[in-house]
Amino acid sequence: MPFHVMLIPTLGCPSNCSYCWSSEERSPIMSIETIKEVVEWLKNFRDDSVTFTFHGGEPLLAGAGFFREALPLLVEGLSDRKMAFAIQTNLWKMTPEIAEIFAKYNIPIGSSLDGPKELNDFQRGKGYYDKTMRGYEIAKEHGLSVRFITTFTSHSVNFKDEIFNFYLENGFMLKFHPALPSLRGDEPEKWALDPEEYGRLLIYLLNKYLENLGRIEVLNIDHLCKGVFGGRGAVCTFVDCMGDTFAVGPDGGIYPCYRFVGMPKYVMGNVYDHPSMEDLAQSDAWKLMQQYKEYVDRECKQCAHIKYCRGGCPYNAITPYDGEIKGVDPHCISYKMIFDEITNRVNEELFGSSGMDMFQAGPMKASRPGIMSLMLKKI
Ligand code: SF4
Ligand code: SF4
Repeated sequence: MPFHVMLIPTLGCPSNCSYCWSSEERSPIMSIETIKEVVEWLKNFRDDSVTFTFHGGEPLLAGAGFFREALPLLVEGLSDRKMAFAIQTNLWKMTPEIAEIFAKYNIPIGSSLDGPKELNDFQRGKGYYDKTMRGYEIAKEHGLSVRFITTFTSHSVNFKDEIFNFYLENGFMLKFHPALPSLRGDEPEKWALDPEEYGRLLIYLLNKYLENLGRIEVLNIDHLCKGVFGGRGAVCTFVDCMGDTFAVGPDGGIYPCYRFVGMPKYVMGNVYDHPSMEDLAQSDAWKLMQQYKEYVDRECKQCAHIKYCRGGCPYNAITPYDGEIKGVDPHCISYKMIFDEITNRVNEELFGSSGMDMFQAGPMKASRPGIMSLMLKKI
């Protein structure tokens, strides 16, 4: 697991998506002083290569001035190691000035778009689509790479064909995640995608991907297949993220991941104190994350997929119970469904009837597109 530091310049966001759980209206903006302290903290914390991801809230609210100062401070202050950057933004505040800075530092952009305009704006708010597309055009004009991420909700999952075709027709790579129950608001489950429904969606997208191989990339399916083939998770959800991923909030607070930022009980330390790994390990949040890892070792011991699942995301598992460990990631059901599907299909292709067909004389039977073709293409 590479070392990953998420920088959260603010939890504020100009959008008001119906199912959002990570924005706070009055969140302050991170100061440049805090970036300087991030550099001082990291100098003695770890010296291996690091990826910085700017996340939020909406990180572009920090403005061009913030990025113009912060990026060289990080690059020059930590010049003894390899470094990469990324940003997750809705692109509304993208300007040619910011795009120029990002191009200089070769920063790929992840942005959110839930499919065609009408569907997207229904869940993310009127005008969202056009504002994001305006930012997208500016980013493209400056040669920046932009990937969109779709959130499938209890509503949009009913339009999965339209969403898949939208990505296919526009030539976008598809990355997605399920809407989680909100920790704020009166109806936490309203937009959340039921885990079994999510499992069915994953299998649907695997099939659609294989039917359209060479015409679209579905990143999550690539990652899931790579996990099964390599025997190790290919994204944070499916590895032990604790100890290798940290997030720094607007005030310099250090958390296990951006998802916990703004929740006081998950603060592990502060960059202004330049804590060592041992210092962070004294915090309750660190201990909780380690306890989750041990819990997964026990609870998932009998599961055939434990090596490339690792109990899923600790945030998903822990936060609905206010910091208590009462189970693994509730998407366990979805993960089992897709991992079973992938392994069964691989076995069928390698050892089953469709594999044997290759050696039989006579006309070939029409069979569904193979998962091995995808893997040969990707690995
Ligand atoms: S808490 Fe979840 S989202 Fe955050 S790094 Fe870990 S697995 Fe990824
Ligand atoms: S699929 Fe479920 S039981 Fe298996 S490792 Fe993942 S979380 Fe654990």
